[in-house]
Amino acid sequence: MTIETLESLETASAAVEVHDVHKWYGTHRVLNGIDLTVRPGEVTVIIGPSGSGKSTLLRVVNHLEKPEIGYVSVNGELIGLRRQGDRLKELSERAILTQRSRIGFVFQNFNLFPHLTVLDNVAAAPVATGKLGKAAAQELARELLERVGLADKATAYPRQLSGGQQQRVAIARALALRPGIILFDEPTSALDPELVGEVLAVIRDLARSGTTLVIVTHEIGFAREIADRVVFIDGGKIVEQGPPAEVLDKPQHERTRDFLSKVL
Ligand code: ADP
Ligand code: MG
Repeated sequence: MTIETLESLETASAAVEVHDVHKWYGTHRVLNGIDLTVRPGEVTVIIGPSGSGKSTLLRVVNHLEKPEIGYVSVNGELIGLRRQGDRLKELSERAILTQRSRIGFVFQNFNLFPHLTVLDNVAAAPVATGKLGKAAAQELARELLERVGLADKATAYPRQLSGGQQQRVAIARALALRPGIILFDEPTSALDPELVGEVLAVIRDLARSGTTLVIVTHEIGFAREIADRVVFIDGGKIVEQGPPAEVLDKPQHERTRDFLSKVL
């Protein structure tokens, strides 16, 4: 890594810049040289077979995993690192939490706090990070619940909600820190088919409002509709990427064609 490369990562006008990222679990290489640029306001959909490294890539962007090689910057900030002259130092835990608070993450299994009401699930992070006082956080939480169509569920507990409703709460919770970007890891794959649409509708609304989104999904129809760019990953590498009309309808690589023939 040269200083020029670092500087270009830091001054990037990109929302996310992934530079030559490699990640191993033991001897198993899961990411094998990923380069990816996401522009502000862009909707990027990542597709690929199970085990191809999609979740790991999102987790690296959010600093839930550290790559052995390579760098990530989000809105021009190096993830997990700071630069001192020509040296790189690891960020403190606290600085990492601050950095992570600028990146929303929506998980396949919602990961709501079971002992908190819906309202408190959404209000928790702005209070915990000291961004808002309790009253202001609850007011924001009410607005966000309204936005995802769940204003009437504020006092319910997660277990009283359907999977689709829980995932909409999880999206409201991700929005509560006003992140510059939201990462979704298969947000509808744990849902019964009849509940998928309500979650996709909320994501569609975010995409239209210009939020930068990176979405891992097997919903190819949805990808075709909302993606500015589709990225196909296999074996820890980006095999091809481009507008949906190219990658989904005229894939250049056999592996992409093979994958699409299985999911479509
Ligand atoms: P995808 O999301 O595309 O299905 P993942 O990124 O979850 O793929 O996983 C990629 C590979 O890394 C898989 O072979 C998986 O078994 C392995 N893997 C993921 N997380 C871990 C971990 N914490 N420890 C060891 N291996 C892991
Ligand atoms: Mg995954």
